[in-house]
Amino acid sequence: MSTAWNRYYAPDTVTAALDILQRYDGRARVIGGGTDLLVETRRGLRRPIEAIVDATRISGLDSITEEGDYIIIGCGVTHTTIVSDPRIVRYGQCLSESCGVIGGPQVRNTGTLAGNVAHALPAGDGTIGLMALGGDVEVTGRDGARWMPAKDTFKGPGRSVIDRHHEILTRLRFKRQSDNEGSAFHRVMRPQGLCLPIISMATRLRMNGNTIVAAGISMGPVGPVPWFAEPAAEALVGQPASTETFNEATRIALEHVSLRTSKYRATEEYRESMIRTWLPNILANAVQRAGVPT
Ligand SMILES: Cc1cc2nc3c(=O)[nH]c(=O)nc-3n(C[C@H](O)[C@H](O)[C@H](O)COP(=O)(O)OP(=O)(O)OC[C@H]3O[C@@H](n4cnc5c(N)ncnc54)[C@H](O)[C@@H]3O)c2cc1C
Repeated sequence: MSTAWNRYYAPDTVTAALDILQRYDGRARVIGGGTDLLVETRRGLRRPIEAIVDATRISGLDSITEEGDYIIIGCGVTHTTIVSDPRIVRYGQCLSESCGVIGGPQVRNTGTLAGNVAHALPAGDGTIGLMALGGDVEVTGRDGARWMPAKDTFKGPGRSVIDRHHEILTRLRFKRQSDNEGSAFHRVMRPQGLCLPIISMATRLRMNGNTIVAAGISMGPVGPVPWFAEPAAEALVGQPASTETFNEATRIALEHVSLRTSKYRATEEYRESMIRTWLPNILANAVQRAGVPT
């Protein structure tokens, strides 16, 4: 097999990683687990890379930590670690659930949430879970580090505002769910083996008694980028948790999505019916997890 890159670097610090990227000036690429990048490069879907810079060996960025109200996930953290981390299960359940459906065990043991977000595919499962939580990403370049909402990093399928030749997605974060909050994720897919998702969706709700006081909804693939379903989430706020409320939010979401028939996924009609069925379902699930009986 021909090598898809000439040099492999595993720097221990962000500064060292940025120095290498600068030296190669566009001919090097940041890599996480390589489960997207190397597969695509070996298939000839992208040009061979002169050098790859492994972000998973940077010291301090391979763990999950808590800072103030935030749970912080380093760019070297794999999906397997996220799925089993008790803080993520407790305070960001939809993220744990979304990372848990990615690939099989080998892919989850290697692939990172940072790579899932930086890859910017419309159906990135971990990305959809993080977005529903209102998650942010930290992007570090020569000029320093900046936090930005994960939902604002996408420019198109596979296109990110993160310059993956010169910048590193160093950390991801979300605010801990409180006791009156719940979140849920669901992916519709064919049951056989590893395959493309038909539709994935996630939500986070904050309750005051039976009233929804804050909401986030995300889904994909429903367009060129993972979608933060703001109009549908806004329709929930101030409303009682009820079937009527969930159905109305779903109706609004469907007004905004652009579903296509795909021979690999499903027909447009089937995908629409799956949103109609499952979005109310995960909303009810999140309400229940917030401790409100539905
Ligand atoms: C068999 C198989 C099944 C899969 N199933 C699923 C699935 O069910 N759901 C799903 O969402 N995905 C799936 N994937 C895709 C992939 O595994 C995930 O998207 C994974 O999260 C990618 O992470 P990674 O660390 O391997 O990224 P990499 O392949 O290392 O990188 C992906 C992209 O992100 C960039 N990048 C990576 N890390 C950083 C960083 N720290 N800073 C800046 N840029 C960075 C790279 O340059 C590249 O452009 C599957 C892949 C395979 C091979």
